[in-house]
Amino acid sequence: HRADGKGRAPWRGTLRDGHRVRLLGNVGSAADAEAAVAAGAEGVGLFRTEFCYLAATREPTVAEQRAAYAAVLAPFRGRSVVVRTLDAGADKPLPFLGLDAEPNPALGVRGLRVAFDRPELLDRQLAAIAAAASDTGAEVSVMAPMVATAAEAVWFAERARAAGIPRVGVMIEVPAVALVAAEVMDAVDFVSLGTNDLAQYLFAADRQLGAVAGLNDPWQPALLRLIAAVAEAGAARGVPVGVCGEAAADPLLARALVGLGVTSLSMNATALGGVSAALAEVDRAECRRFARAALAAGTPDQARAAARR
Ligand code: PEP
Ligand code: MG
Repeated sequence: HRADGKGRAPWRGTLRDGHRVRLLGNVGSAADAEAAVAAGAEGVGLFRTEFCYLAATREPTVAEQRAAYAAVLAPFRGRSVVVRTLDAGADKPLPFLGLDAEPNPALGVRGLRVAFDRPELLDRQLAAIAAAASDTGAEVSVMAPMVATAAEAVWFAERARAAGIPRVGVMIEVPAVALVAAEVMDAVDFVSLGTNDLAQYLFAADRQLGAVAGLNDPWQPALLRLIAAVAEAGAARGVPVGVCGEAAADPLLARALVGLGVTSLSMNATALGGVSAALAEVDRAECRRFARAALAAGTPDQARAAARR
């Protein structure tokens, strides 16, 4: 472990052989941001901006958005923060968007899709994010949720760059976009795997439904193989591939994800200590062995057991 030179806690995410994996926080509020810093997060891998507006009945003004984002960014001056643009719909309805009711909201107009008909909504949010970045000195990137094609990634990246945001990424949480990860990576600076939705859409299994929770197990070999393909595409191009879904918070699985080539793991503050400790005990070659064992398993339980062995 090495200190960051400013008297803060030592950086977490160092393997036994010194290999570094960026351990980041998932945040939705200023309190979450403080907790992430206190837990030793190097930065933020997922700022869920919709959490600032769950109760809003009208669109927040750019000035209101700027203040809300700055409050979350403030503890991360000089550090990297990935701000995700609004991810509304399905599990997170935002009343001010006035979205039509849909028979299958998880498959409907959610995430970046909301912006296709109303790009000015996205542009106002991007302007507020850029302003909050300069207010706080945080090294801000933006990331779009629910991207389904490489063309959508191109569309988002152009708008984000036009807003003056230098680093742009997209979430990989729709299986179709995982399959064209190479083309997506030509358009953006980084990608982040949202394993919660990626599992839901890969297995056609509602992430909120207990009856199908077994399919949404992040140790499912099919999910791990899809993650492996994206990580491989990233490694071939030098494009960072993070994980910001719940999979990143499982200490044993974190080792396998590092073995697959994932470069950052973003999680709730409470999980950072356990993941950091699990990574400190192993080197990169062991992580690769973990990954190979998990990939070769037939079921999630077998994958877990193989990794433990
Ligand atoms: C995910 O889908 O894995 C993710 C990180 O985003 P959310 O949980 O906010 O949908
Ligand atoms: Mg998601």
